[in-house]
Amino acid sequence: MNAGKIVVLGTGGTIAGKAGSAGDNVGYVAGQVGVQELLEAVPGLMQAAQGPLQVEQVAQIDSKDMEFSVWSDLATRCLRYLADDTVRAIVITHGTDTLEETAWFLQSVLNATKPVVLTCAMRPATAMAPDGPHNLLDAMAVATAPGARGVLAVCAGVVHGARQVQKVHPYRVDAFSSGETGPLGWVEEGYVRWAETCLPALCGRAQAALEKIANGAPWPRVEIVMNYAGACGATVDALVRDGVQGLVVAATGNGSVHHDLQAALERAQTAGVAIRVSTRCAQGQVLPRTGALLPLGHGLSPVKERVSLILELLGGGILA
Ligand code: ASP
Repeated sequence: MNAGKIVVLGTGGTIAGKAGSAGDNVGYVAGQVGVQELLEAVPGLMQAAQGPLQVEQVAQIDSKDMEFSVWSDLATRCLRYLADDTVRAIVITHGTDTLEETAWFLQSVLNATKPVVLTCAMRPATAMAPDGPHNLLDAMAVATAPGARGVLAVCAGVVHGARQVQKVHPYRVDAFSSGETGPLGWVEEGYVRWAETCLPALCGRAQAALEKIANGAPWPRVEIVMNYAGACGATVDALVRDGVQGLVVAATGNGSVHHDLQAALERAQTAGVAIRVSTRCAQGQVLPRTGALLPLGHGLSPVKERVSLILELLGGGILA
């Protein structure tokens, strides 16, 4: 992807709203803070944008009052910037009330091959914990993400498509849903994880594993161990003594493991057992942490991670 500029178009909304006190999340006036000021208040924004920004205040309204004139203005500017080779993506700040309508309108008229990313907030800029700054950072992450194209909406770390996105909650910060199709992806620590991530490396290499099985190679022994309150390392030690070749850890949260179990897993790894860390959480996947001593899996559930590790060990450990 080129490193062109990102055009930011401000239209108002709660993200630009002001309340009388930091504790007031509902009695605010939307569309008060200029988009340039909003951007300047976000640490790390320029880094996330990976290039220059061009900022324009297209409107300054509560999106409940959205008018066709604003849509025309937005569409005209988007068309111009999408055709401009120096522009990499467009980010639009918008109120949440009619965001889904603007998203669909733009998706319908633009035929955008570059990303046009709408973002917003459910708490005013004056709130004790405003969600706007993080949503802006996430919007930059999506605007610069490989694979991003067309009109998208980002709120509370979730990436929605223009067709599916819908405001489903009047108060909570994660106010949008993509309905039964689910979101297109998530923004985690500045990176977009698309829902449909394929693992092409796995597919090709798994064929080598299949050939070995066909030629009579034994299936490697891979077991799953789970972290929980009071977990200890005895099971892992026993499995190592019993000749286990791989262990998938169904860790808690973002790959955390009880210190006793962790010590046993490190012993197992030193003894040559292949370890892959996954999470027992039903959604999401473990994000890499600096200093982690055990390797992460491929972001699959523990049982699928086990299948992959079996194939990996059969294929000669080339995915390690
Ligand atoms: N009424 C506001 C608006 O749509 C609500 C929001 O932005 O969250 O502009």
